[in-house]
Amino acid sequence: MKDLSVVIPIYNEEENIQLLYTRVKGVLDKMEVSYELVFVNDGSKDQSLSLIEGLAAHDNTVKYIDFSRNFGHQIAVTAGLDHTSGNRVVIIDADLQDPPELIPDMYRKMDENYQVVYARRINRKGERFLKKTTAKIFYRTLSSITAFDIPLDAGDFRIMDRKVVDVLKQMPEQQKFLRGQISWIGFNQTYIEYDREERHGGQTGYTYKKMFRFALDGITSFSNLPLKVASLMGFIVSAMAFIIMLYALYIRFFHNDYVQGWTSMIISIMFIGGIQLICVGIIGEYISRISTNVRQRPLYITNKTNMK
Ligand code: UDP
Ligand code: MG
Repeated sequence: MKDLSVVIPIYNEEENIQLLYTRVKGVLDKMEVSYELVFVNDGSKDQSLSLIEGLAAHDNTVKYIDFSRNFGHQIAVTAGLDHTSGNRVVIIDADLQDPPELIPDMYRKMDENYQVVYARRINRKGERFLKKTTAKIFYRTLSSITAFDIPLDAGDFRIMDRKVVDVLKQMPEQQKFLRGQISWIGFNQTYIEYDREERHGGQTGYTYKKMFRFALDGITSFSNLPLKVASLMGFIVSAMAFIIMLYALYIRFFHNDYVQGWTSMIISIMFIGGIQLICVGIIGEYISRISTNVRQRPLYITNKTNMK
């Protein structure tokens, strides 16, 4: 059993792998711990896989899992965690936005009886404005609607105890929102702060579409509030409709000028129609996630690996 496993998800990172490897190795070699690096190639379309295989050929601390296609960042990390054996496990991005030099600090912090030490970013360099703002709004909304604390401004860069990893492995859901799951698990958690660097090379693998799906996974996995809001809207609109009905009857029987215009009618039809569609959509989001889980497909498919 190793002291430390480092999980690195890889999607089109050919420009970063060599430097990442050098920097992580440099840091770990100084720490005097036994370790393994677990690269998970998430269906990269560039030379990432052959670079990793090249490293593995000369260095038996380098392990890898190659997926049959792109399954997404969270699933790549999950696969890495499934295969680690270390007493403690680090999750780190491959693009060097998470500085490997923080690993010794995080590792030492664990000795103060913490089971999770995550890295909280105080600054994010070179990130698109829209991404930063949407992320800010999203994390604040999420933490206000969940019953437990999901840390603000933290990604997946963290170190965890074997205990936590073992619990994570028992959580079978298909929609992975690891940072939420890890908070949910509990134990003693703390953080260190850091400035997030710019991506070293290449481009982000997170399109806005992937980010949107990730955000919805986070909300639906940890909160039923949207469903409650949907039924609440239903009640409010029905109450309003009832009042309008009383008013219409009153006008009809006690006034002569009861011919009403088109405006009020079209507005109420659009309004009620809109609310209904939103509610159906919210329910649909939950149902689609239920059906994904019911199918019980494997979370990922391995093409090749040098692990057991
Ligand atoms: N990644 C992955 N699968 C994907 C997208 C990203 O394994 O579908 C990896 C990527 O190689 C990187 C990490 O996940 O190591 C974070 O991705 P990225 O840097 O693209 O996201 P950002 O930092 O822009 O949020
Ligand atoms: Mg990145």
